[in-house]
Amino acid sequence: MFAQRASSIVDGSPIVYPFSEAAEAHPTGLIACLQQIKGGSSSILTAPSSKAYNTDRLGFNLRFNYKPAAIFHPRSEDEGAAAIRCAAIHNVAVVPRSGGHSYEGYGIGGKDGALIIDLNLFQKIAMDTNTGIAIVAAGVRLGDLYTKVWDAGQYLIPAGTCPTVGIGGLALGGGLGMVGRKYGLLSDSIVSMTMIDANGNVQEVNATSNIDLFWALRGAGAGSYGLVTEFKIQAYKAPDKVTTFSIIYPLRTYRSAIEAFGAWGPSAADDVMAVMILKPSSIRINVNFLGPKEQAQETINTLLNRIPGKPTRIKMVEGTWLQAAIKWGSGTLNSTAWEGSRYTQGRSLLYRTPLSTNEMDIIYKYLNYSPDNDTITRVLIDVWGGKIDRPSSSSSAFDNHRGVLYSIQFFIAWNDPSSTSGSIGPKCLKWSTDFAKEIRAAYRSGHNLEAYQNYIERDLPNWLHAYYGNNVLRLQQIKKTFDPQNVFTFPQAIPLP
Ligand SMILES: Cc1cc2nc3c(=O)[nH]c(=O)nc-3n(C[C@H](O)[C@H](O)[C@H](O)COP(=O)(O)OP(=O)(O)OC[C@H]3O[C@@H](n4cnc5c(N)ncnc54)[C@H](O)[C@@H]3O)c2cc1C
Repeated sequence: MFAQRASSIVDGSPIVYPFSEAAEAHPTGLIACLQQIKGGSSSILTAPSSKAYNTDRLGFNLRFNYKPAAIFHPRSEDEGAAAIRCAAIHNVAVVPRSGGHSYEGYGIGGKDGALIIDLNLFQKIAMDTNTGIAIVAAGVRLGDLYTKVWDAGQYLIPAGTCPTVGIGGLALGGGLGMVGRKYGLLSDSIVSMTMIDANGNVQEVNATSNIDLFWALRGAGAGSYGLVTEFKIQAYKAPDKVTTFSIIYPLRTYRSAIEAFGAWGPSAADDVMAVMILKPSSIRINVNFLGPKEQAQETINTLLNRIPGKPTRIKMVEGTWLQAAIKWGSGTLNSTAWEGSRYTQGRSLLYRTPLSTNEMDIIYKYLNYSPDNDTITRVLIDVWGGKIDRPSSSSSAFDNHRGVLYSIQFFIAWNDPSSTSGSIGPKCLKWSTDFAKEIRAAYRSGHNLEAYQNYIERDLPNWLHAYYGNNVLRLQQIKKTFDPQNVFTFPQAIPLP
């Protein structure tokens, strides 16, 4: 039976899956099958017996220690397709990995035993300067993308801030960054994708081919439907000048600062993108303005006039978009700069109505309490609106989040490797859990809990609806069409109907 099925790995004919509730995964058979593909090259397969296994299986967030069945690094779509077929016939879950930045370690499966298909060898970036469309392989990191499209003629692509994040997860879950209010989310700029499905077939996915899948992948595509190998993304000519601001206030002004920022940001001009970062000692407001400093200053004054008292510092810099992107990337676009640096827990909430006084006081309370000296605690408020609400692209699975005023992310990071034992990790996780419980109890925005899928959180109550709202049933039907045997799965994947 195995030999019969194994032939379909090579010839691409439809696979008859042996799946049932009782079926067991067969990692030994899987490794043998993957070895057939690798044709003698040891560099593309990391098996549990490989020397590299204990480093290759780590993601950005070192809190997770999952043990995949194997990690496979295909060099081509054919190899990726063959690996998917191997996993399917051996009943092993397939998990794509692009940048490995999932908050819950889903790029390494979110549990033991998955086949990780790592796209680090998919690194093509090519700009068509006639159409302004960038062809971007799904293993590319954000810092490389920003640099290459800039070098191709001073283009920009709306995406995130961290240079080490992978395009795969970022684009398929949304992708919010410092030009988002002018150009929308990264997912809104996707023109087309190539995806290998659960049968190992290559699908072109765009507004005329696989239309339902095109809708689903843009917002709900991370890990649930197939292995996306390439994106075509609309890029935009960057304005000549970009002005950045970092404005600091003392934390004690939090109520008036949050109120003013929350009223100003979502209704500001589309050229403005802003994030408020609340720290235990201070509040920083980062603003990116697409235009020269004179215009930027006028816009900023409309914010400053709303906040009582003077800021303790204002830094304004006029430069290019690339310089701004470097600044928002904490001084670098080096795509390996922050690799695997810390233990973290992040969670999010989306707000359609302003934060209540009670919610602001909860934020203040948790910022004032740090579980340990060696701990970083932050609350980030990103303003939404602008093109995030008015995408020029067709409707997508992100549409349930249009109309949000701002997102809140509460975040803790620590350096101590003890996540479940030891002194620091458990205290940090408790900080995060208690904070979540309290602020969710106070949450009143839009009645039902709403959160951003790219800041994915395993213990978010009713997470399927919080991330995908009224789109859930349609997403499940599309899942059934393209992955009826649930080959692409992880703890928070779109489930079969
Ligand atoms: C330091 C840091 C900064 C961040 N900054 C931002 C930001 O500015 N804006 C923002 O919107 N988000 C941001 N995020 C969140 C980020 O968008 C998500 O964590 C995203 O899922 C990471 O994608 P990845 O490819 O790096 O991660 P991975 O762990 O590789 O993948 C994440 C999920 O996507 C799936 N996936 C990855 N590649 C593919 C593929 N090719 N085909 C199908 N599925 C795939 C994986 O299976 C997994 O479920 C940040 C995260 C971190 C850790």
